[in-house]
Amino acid sequence: TQQTLANIKSVDGDINAFLTVAEKDAVADADQIDQKGIDKDNPLSGIPVAIKDNMLTKGLKTTAASKILENFTPMFDATAVEKLKQLGTVTLGKTNMDEFAMGGSTENSAFKITHNPWDTTKVPGGSSGGSAAAVASGEVLAALGSDTGGSIRQPASFNGVVGMKPTYGRVSRWGLIAFGSSLDQIGPITRNVEDNATLLNAIAGHDKHDLTSSIKEVPDFTSALNKGVKGMRIGIPTEFMSQGLDDDVKQTVLDTAEQFKKLGATVEEVSLPHTKYGVAAYYIISSSEASSNLQRFDGIRYGRRAADVKNLEDLYVKSRSEGFGDEVKRRIMLGTFSLSAGFYDAYFKKAAQVRTLMNNDFAKVFKDFDLILAPTAPTPAYGIGEDVSDPMTMYMNDVLTLPVNLAGLPGMSIPAGFSNGLPVGVQLIGRPYDELTVYQAGNAFE
Ligand code: GLN
Repeated sequence: TQQTLANIKSVDGDINAFLTVAEKDAVADADQIDQKGIDKDNPLSGIPVAIKDNMLTKGLKTTAASKILENFTPMFDATAVEKLKQLGTVTLGKTNMDEFAMGGSTENSAFKITHNPWDTTKVPGGSSGGSAAAVASGEVLAALGSDTGGSIRQPASFNGVVGMKPTYGRVSRWGLIAFGSSLDQIGPITRNVEDNATLLNAIAGHDKHDLTSSIKEVPDFTSALNKGVKGMRIGIPTEFMSQGLDDDVKQTVLDTAEQFKKLGATVEEVSLPHTKYGVAAYYIISSSEASSNLQRFDGIRYGRRAADVKNLEDLYVKSRSEGFGDEVKRRIMLGTFSLSAGFYDAYFKKAAQVRTLMNNDFAKVFKDFDLILAPTAPTPAYGIGEDVSDPMTMYMNDVLTLPVNLAGLPGMSIPAGFSNGLPVGVQLIGRPYDELTVYQAGNAFE
């Protein structure tokens, strides 16, 4: 822990991965573990981790990178955080992110800009950009992120690390500050596949505090790591490989396919015909859910309260106007509009129907295939400041990740190549609750 803290001190000035470094707490936790003695049979005993700042950490400031929660300290831990702690990990701190996880570059943080460790003029991706950068820079061994429409996988791709978005329901969302409740999942970001599976082992499982967490049995995700991919049927969706995709990214997917073939898998093209409607459907559904979830930030119950107000309404309006950033306000407006009487049928309902069609596309492919291979993001990391003022471009960049959230499937990005010195990831998508096969293939490729 001391070494990790020293490392963060020397590295994080250039990277800005952390919003809060929990120096005192981390040392106290590590001391306690020392007193008990490291548990040699438990691979997580004493391991330093970082937590995205939208997960509640008892006694440790949690802001979701928003001014509205600038001074908010939770009274309890998110279930995923608590489970890690029980296994003896040491929380080193909270990582930077796009405000309320809305964004894909971590530039929407109200507090700081995180830099990509491979090239500090580039973004680390987002919204879990701080977590991915903290792992890629060597500051911590592992971190938790959250993924509503790609926020674990895309930063993993931009940072050359492994990021898993588990099946919806695999990990409890209790204590995760909600964005799009039907899409949000917590997952691990690590340097390799084995660490990732070990972390998912720790955080998965049913939780009585989250009724959408599954009662399905949790397998040992490390148990199939060395089984290889012989005989595995892998599909590459044509729609994911079409225009807009950077040449190097495309080549990386094709090279990965070749590698899988050499290892004994079969690889064929498949079709997910409704992919083109995904961005529209996702931004309507996620913003609608966000507009509802963010109602609780009213200046009264949590965090920031505006001063000098005339009445209750003025308190709400001022606290929210001052506390939320532009992107968050944009989503609240979009969501409120899509849900309003008169527009619900044309927008929210249509988006929900598109979601069903996309689900069906995946189900059809998974009748004949065990796994889908696809690019994670259309490009490698881009320059800081390049896209942030253009929301439509930012939204379009999510086209390859968000179908997985709409369908609730497990998806993992693994490092697979480079483009001009920047890492490029590919995405492995599995059947519902089949993270095992995703890890098995990811480890065979690695
Ligand atoms: N970039 C997407 C968005 O802004 C995804 C965010 C996420 O997964 N949290 O909504």
